[in-house]
Amino acid sequence: MIWLLSAIVVLLICALAAYTKARASLKRSGLPRGKLLYGDTGFPIGHLAPLSVDEHGTRQERPLISKRYGLVGRPDYLVRTREGIVPVEAKSGNCPASGRPYASNLMQLAAYCLLVEETTGARVPYGLIRYNDREIEVEFTANLREELLALLEEMREARAVEIVHRSHNDSRRCTGCSMRGVCEEAL
Ligand code: SF4
Repeated sequence: MIWLLSAIVVLLICALAAYTKARASLKRSGLPRGKLLYGDTGFPIGHLAPLSVDEHGTRQERPLISKRYGLVGRPDYLVRTREGIVPVEAKSGNCPASGRPYASNLMQLAAYCLLVEETTGARVPYGLIRYNDREIEVEFTANLREELLALLEEMREARAVEIVHRSHNDSRRCTGCSMRGVCEEAL
């Protein structure tokens, strides 16, 4: 009987430790005020869809899917605020010195904004990119949406060819690109 009680106590302590760690992680993420709907950083919520279980038995959020735009993704967090649903992406590095997010981070966030609009029908006023040293709020404007859709179209076309060349002469785009280290056509 004592061993059973001990096992229960150990399980409770483990659960409490996991919960405390998850809450600390949420606090560090600096989420906007509102209701947490989705969490892909070890603290799944299961609000938008039932949680799935991976091959290690870990419960996790289901990815958001838009067949219309051919997009699939798991935002780090989604928070329902008074203005609408806000995606939050947490990055492990610092913000670029320019104070603008990396182009790839910006497009990733825009893709999540579009995915959330598509899958929930809710308004997405802006998203947040949280770098180590600062947080950047990105408004989901009509221009950003157009830029994203153009990029998705470009990617669809690029999939059909074997070698994909640089499609622009914008050095700022290359400066902020995460592929710069391996790209042979970087400006
Ligand atoms: S570094 Fe290469 S992949 Fe990145 S934007 Fe420039 S050309 Fe495109």
